[in-house]
Amino acid sequence: MFAGVTRREFDRVALMISGAAAFRTSMVPGRLAEALEMQPDLQTALNQKHDVERVLSRVQAAGASVQLSDAELQVLLSPSADAWLEPMARLAADITRQRFGRIMQLYAPLYLSNTCMSTCTYCGFSFENKTPRRTLHSTEIQTEAEYLHKEGIRHILLLTGESYRDTPLAYLRKAIADLKERFSAVSIEVYPLKTDEYRELRAAGLDGLTIYQETYDPERYAQVHLRGMKKRMQYRLECPDRAGIAGVRKLVIGALAGLSDPAADVYVLARHARYLLHQYWQSRVSVSLPRLRPAEGLQDPSIPGIPDRDYVRYLCALRLYLPDAGIYLSTRESSRMRDHMARICITDMSAGSKTDPGGYALEGSTEQFSIDDTRSVAELGADLRRQDLDVILNDWAALLV
Ligand code: SF4
Repeated sequence: MFAGVTRREFDRVALMISGAAAFRTSMVPGRLAEALEMQPDLQTALNQKHDVERVLSRVQAAGASVQLSDAELQVLLSPSADAWLEPMARLAADITRQRFGRIMQLYAPLYLSNTCMSTCTYCGFSFENKTPRRTLHSTEIQTEAEYLHKEGIRHILLLTGESYRDTPLAYLRKAIADLKERFSAVSIEVYPLKTDEYRELRAAGLDGLTIYQETYDPERYAQVHLRGMKKRMQYRLECPDRAGIAGVRKLVIGALAGLSDPAADVYVLARHARYLLHQYWQSRVSVSLPRLRPAEGLQDPSIPGIPDRDYVRYLCALRLYLPDAGIYLSTRESSRMRDHMARICITDMSAGSKTDPGGYALEGSTEQFSIDDTRSVAELGADLRRQDLDVILNDWAALLV
């Protein structure tokens, strides 16, 4: 199992990444912010400059077979690497084309329920939010799915809040089995399950699991997860292991960039993904790094945003450290950012998304978060093809296993 991360380790990683370069202490909570109030050391800064050049030279020489060390990943995540963003992006694009060709896989989320027994300070579905709750019944699920099918979508991601009462295992199993008749791939992003429960859903047709750790910083995790099953950080951390053991063939893990020190979260996320790639080689492992977006009832609007350049650097660093991993980019990002990153390191994108149950063909409900890229599936597909990318709507791998 992927080892848990202690606060001390998380702080140490964040310090090493931030190094001696300029950083925004306002982005870093609590004790870490205090620890970072040290003056830049010129010699260290110069060393980091040479380090970035050395790491990129190694990537250039080895191409997609490169295996960067954890220390090299820290160098790429450090603010010192900002000056090398263009070469980083070029190398990331080269590796993506070598490993994945010009393919962009599209999928769509289908929200089954916004009922949730957990409280997360950044989410519109939080238990305390006085908002109408809705759980789709099977006819409504089919209506929503029919809409997406007509749009051309063949890979669907089913989402719920964390309510074992309103969306129990039997409910998920039936939804998966029904939708598998028309869709080439069905994935879930729901509450954490046990290994046997993943096996049961796998038997019903489940192809993939998406699970966000949100942040790997234990102290921050406790601050933003106040109630419900979501409070159990370690149980959530081991969720991809349980799904991998159960034979789920697509594992997508992610962090919500901005909840804690983003570079440190990206670092641990990357190591977590590499661990899964080695441990569950029969599964396709991918990472996702959405930035926080506004949501109804958001209790912590002071959470700072992540500048675009930093965000691009994190995604490029993920590609250079994880040449074999898929990288997802959601509709939380703008169309401009998505088009740009599609040419560099992204392999999977959500399309035409609605984040409320019934949002496609029925009367919608409260959104989990607002989206930025509002293009339809057809519009997004056309824009990607104009960039010479091959848009894939069918998940062919699902037909081969
Ligand atoms: S992030 Fe998930 S668990 Fe937390 S409130 Fe939202 S739906 Fe519930």
